[in-house]
This record gives sequence, C-alpha cells and structure tokens, in this order.
Amino acid sequence: MTAKCPVCSGPGRILRRLPASELAGGLEAVFGAPPPSDAVPGDYDLAECTACGLVYADPMLAGGGALYDWLTSFPKYHAQGRWEWAKLKELLIAEGRPVRLLELGAGQGDFLATLQDLPQVTAQGIDLAERSVAKAQARGLDVRKAALEQVIEEAAGTYDAVVLSHVLEHVATPGALMGAVKNLLAPGGRILFSVPYSPMSREYLHDDVMNLPPHHMTRWNIRALEGLSRVTGLALETWMPKAKAPWKRALKHTCDKVWGEGRVRGLARMPVVLANWSTFRQVLSDHRNRERVGGQPAADTVLVSLQKV
Ligand SMILES: [Zn+2]
Repeated sequence: MTAKCPVCSGPGRILRRLPASELAGGLEAVFGAPPPSDAVPGDYDLAECTACGLVYADPMLAGGGALYDWLTSFPKYHAQGRWEWAKLKELLIAEGRPVRLLELGAGQGDFLATLQDLPQVTAQGIDLAERSVAKAQARGLDVRKAALEQVIEEAAGTYDAVVLSHVLEHVATPGALMGAVKNLLAPGGRILFSVPYSPMSREYLHDDVMNLPPHHMTRWNIRALEGLSRVTGLALETWMPKAKAPWKRALKHTCDKVWGEGRVRGLARMPVVLANWSTFRQVLSDHRNRERVGGQPAADTVLVSLQKV
C-alpha cells in the first residue's frame, strides 16, 4: 500500500520506483565521487497525492548524517545567495513596523546577515549543526543551537515572521512541521519559506537526483501549496522570479541532454542544436507548455507566505 500524503493525508499513487542503486549512481554523477553506502538508506517510490498533488517519497525516510556530512563536504552544495532573500527583505521593509523574525535552519547565518542593515527587524535563528551555529555567532548574529520544540515552549505566539529557506523539502513530516511552526506566529504573523518548484525546468530531461529522496522528500507545486494552506488554516501568497525564456532554456537543455550537464556553453550550443533539431523542438515544446503560476511560466523556485489571519 502506498503511504498517505504527509500533508493532507490523501491517498497516494505511485509515479515510479527509485532503486537505491539508481539514486546513489545519480549522486555520484553529480559530485564525481560515490556517496557512502549508508547515504541512501534504501529503495524508494515516488508517490503523488491524488487529493492535493504533492509528490512525496515512500517511505518518508529522510537522509541522515551520512548523506549531509558527505554533501556538505562539497563547496558547490552551498547556496551563494538566493533571489528570494532579496524578495524577503523587500517584504520585511514593506511591513513598515518592527518585525520579530526567526529563521529555522539558519545555518551559518547567510540570510540573517543580509538583514543587519534593517534596524526594525529583530532577527534570530536556530540550527542543530554546532559548527554552523558557531560560525553564525562569530559573525555577530543571534543564532543558537536549539530544537523547534524548545522555541515553541519559550516563545509561542510571538514571531511576526518565521523563515525557512529550502528546509521544508528535506523533512520527513512537512505537514506536522508547518503545524508546529504555526504555533510561533503572533496575530497577523506569517511563515515565509522557499522550496524548489517541481518538476524543475531541467527535469524535462530527467529527474534531478538532488530533487529526489533521500535529499528532497517532497516536491511542491501550486496545488500542493494550496493543500498546505487548507491544512494549516493559513492564507497563501506566492512569488516567483521571472523564468528564463523557453527558447533559452531549450538551447541549454538540448545541449545538456546530448553532451551532459553544463558541458557546452555559449555560441558552441548552436551547432549542437542544429545537429539535434528534433530534440530541440521537443524540449522547446516542453518548456512552452510549462505550468503557469499567476499567469507566468513557472520558475524553478517559489517563495511562499502562509499568514495567520
Ligand atoms: Zn495531499
């Protein structure tokens, strides 16, 4: 039996099998080294909730220390600033009042550091990784090692904004997590989080192993976000960056498909596309038909607000 949806408890149907060997092989192809044997804990299925459209792993067994110790040893694993950080800052300024903010999974404080020039924002963060917390503290940021439950006990109902930057897709209990985070919100407060928008545009070629279990346990689209809004009783709002033009994406993705990810760049793409015209046309048509969100072709990430009303 397929596991129920981890957000709305709706019935799931299996989209496809994900054998552990395939997942481990995919990770090796991305990072150029084989992951440790316990990084992928077993075989998964990729399931889709027939009620809310969330795509999730079955079993919901998230990657543990073995996976993340290995991933974080590669510099390219770490994000270098994200478009949504600028958007978040804009939203906080637009509040026009003092904001008490908590970031869950603050890491070494890369996002919180961008708020240091906003005196109206009191920014705090928590993380479970000691090394990251120490780095954040050395930068003068208010980040400490604490679990969510502990903060709820101390400060329920006091935050105007709780930020989770690319956290939700990693956890095994996303519905329960958001229900718990809701307890932190002051009246009118909101949860602000970003997740990849799935399928990501490059996944027309093949699923991205970094957007699959045991790394990403859930794959979000607008229907699933609406489901989360219903389940939590919080009002939904979303923002996306402008997606690249379909022909630009198709140029790149055709070359990626023929020669491997990122191997062919710039003008060198033209002869590849001409020699693989039917592939290019197929990829272009996929991108032209990409799901639209708010009237725009979906980008690869979405920033979400769930507000207590
Ligand atoms: Zn569901």
